[in-house]
Amino acid sequence: MNFSEIKELDEKYGAKTFSRFPVAFAGGKNATLCDSDGKSYIDFGAGIAVNVFGVNDEAWKNAVVDQLNKIQHVSNYYYIEPQARLARLLCEKTGAKRAFFANSGAEANECAFKTARKYSFEKYGEKRKRIVSLKDSFHGRTLFTLSATGQDSFHKYFAPFVPDVVNTVADVKAVERASDGKACAVVIECVQGESGVTALDRGFIRELAAYCKENDVLLVCDEVQCGNGRTGKFFAYEHYGIAPDLVTTAKGLGGGLPIGACLFFGKTENVLTAGDHGSTFGGNPVVCAGACNVVERMTDEFLSDVAVKADYMRMKLEKIGGIKKVTGLGFMIGLEVEKDPKQVAAECLNRGLLVLTAHKRLRLVPPLTITKTEMDEGLDILEGVLKA
Ligand SMILES: *Cc1c(COP(=O)(O)O)cnc(C)c1O
Repeated sequence: MNFSEIKELDEKYGAKTFSRFPVAFAGGKNATLCDSDGKSYIDFGAGIAVNVFGVNDEAWKNAVVDQLNKIQHVSNYYYIEPQARLARLLCEKTGAKRAFFANSGAEANECAFKTARKYSFEKYGEKRKRIVSLKDSFHGRTLFTLSATGQDSFHKYFAPFVPDVVNTVADVKAVERASDGKACAVVIECVQGESGVTALDRGFIRELAAYCKENDVLLVCDEVQCGNGRTGKFFAYEHYGIAPDLVTTAKGLGGGLPIGACLFFGKTENVLTAGDHGSTFGGNPVVCAGACNVVERMTDEFLSDVAVKADYMRMKLEKIGGIKKVTGLGFMIGLEVEKDPKQVAAECLNRGLLVLTAHKRLRLVPPLTITKTEMDEGLDILEGVLKA
């Protein structure tokens, strides 16, 4: 199908939930994509921080296809080798004790919130079920995770929300007031993605971790976007020297296939038991085989290379006129620009560069394997657009 045929079909039959850019991608290599008409693009979006190895990565594809050639799905009534291997890989890498697998970031957070409520119920009874989240956070689109999402723009139309989910500013005193002795968990994104790529204050995070520990309030790090090597560490919380009780992740973990994970650390290791939670597709063997390849390859060398490349990109961005501020951490980059970010993104697309927006900023989350040549080429296009 050519582009206009694809567009016509989608507009006729697809739900109108997305305002799409006028392009359909057909293939590519690493951080260079090509569209249905053969035009090529540098990719600074990676499918929203998903394609950590870009596209058409040989080793990742082999891992997926090898599993596909064996068996594509089995239910969680049976043991699943790639799922068990992935759980071990994640635990060995992070110090977590166990892992639960779902299919998305929202579901990973659902699992964490349910775990927190059960943990607290068993220890303290009914009256300590509150989930505290932060203003400008994003935790997903299901009602529980939407309730925790601290941006009003997502809430319109969908009340009533899940009770006892409270939202407050990134200040420990405010968290304490919001908790009011009734909180079972506080959830944070160390680098807030959807609201504009903002790394939370180091002092706040460390103080919050201490508060949570002291009060037996579980600290949940939502690493759905900032995890999986994105910031130059496997998880962004590692930059802050804290020890969360629950970690959720998704986006980049599957390398392009849908997966979510909730990792249980010491306190929460044995909270969920048979029947408490589940998923038909969660931990699917093909998806897990791809994710194993992702986690196996995120060695210290790989991650320090990510950090070096991200520094290079940030250094170049700092010198581009029309950029007022560069935010975020590692390869999770926010740009405050003089022009309208949505128009910049549209013009970049015209000129062969994919960038994302996040609230009022541009957002760059390239494949972690992006080459220097690809970065330079993309940055030249961005500079041209910002100058024009
Ligand atoms: C994207 C995102 C989610 C939701 O993930 P889905 O896979 O879209 O459900 C949750 N939390 C954060 C921080 C995210 O960036």
